[in-house]
Amino acid sequence: MDRLRDIYSDEIPAAKILTATDPEALTVLGSMQDMPKVPRWHRGRMVLVGDSAHAPSSSSGQGASMAVESAVELARCLRDIPAPEAAFTAYERLRRARVEKVIDRGAKANTTKTLGPFAKTMMRLTLPILTRTLLNPNEP
Ligand SMILES: Cc1cc2nc3c(=O)[nH]c(=O)nc-3n(C[C@H](O)[C@H](O)[C@H](O)COP(=O)(O)OP(=O)(O)OC[C@H]3O[C@@H](n4cnc5c(N)ncnc54)[C@H](O)[C@@H]3O)c2cc1C
Repeated sequence: MDRLRDIYSDEIPAAKILTATDPEALTVLGSMQDMPKVPRWHRGRMVLVGDSAHAPSSSSGQGASMAVESAVELARCLRDIPAPEAAFTAYERLRRARVEKVIDRGAKANTTKTLGPFAKTMMRLTLPILTRTLLNPNEP
């Protein structure tokens, strides 16, 4: 938290949010992990789109396309439904199931990208031999 507060000390509203955040409440995620589900995507005149509503792990490679899809769907809902709150409700109803499915699929694919203990041991044992023989860049 000290590091974050230092890095974002000049950023608005990040500095304010970090000052008000209890370090115990901080969620730290690696590149293979998804952000927890956001229970509500809108309230009053406020609506979330893109990573703020649905951030998959960066390794899944899905976040940017989902952000664009959600932006287009939100624009459609605002175009077709005059009351903003009703438009936001329709937008969440149309998008939530799809993004959660994509995030779940990405999480399943991520499990195949990480090596299990057996594969890790085999890699550690065989890689030095392979780099000296088959994968040796100096060998023709
Ligand atoms: C390492 C890494 C690799 C990734 N690889 C992929 C990939 O291969 N394929 C893929 O589809 N996705 C990938 N993603 C995810 C993708 O980058 C995001 O899902 C996507 O950028 C989300 O778009 P967004 O518009 O919601 O948010 P962002 O792109 O984060 O845009 C938010 C913008 O708001 C600005 N901002 C923040 N606060 C304020 C403020 N107070 N005032 C004004 N502006 C503000 C920020 O500076 C930022 O420009 C990757 C992410 C990471 C971190």
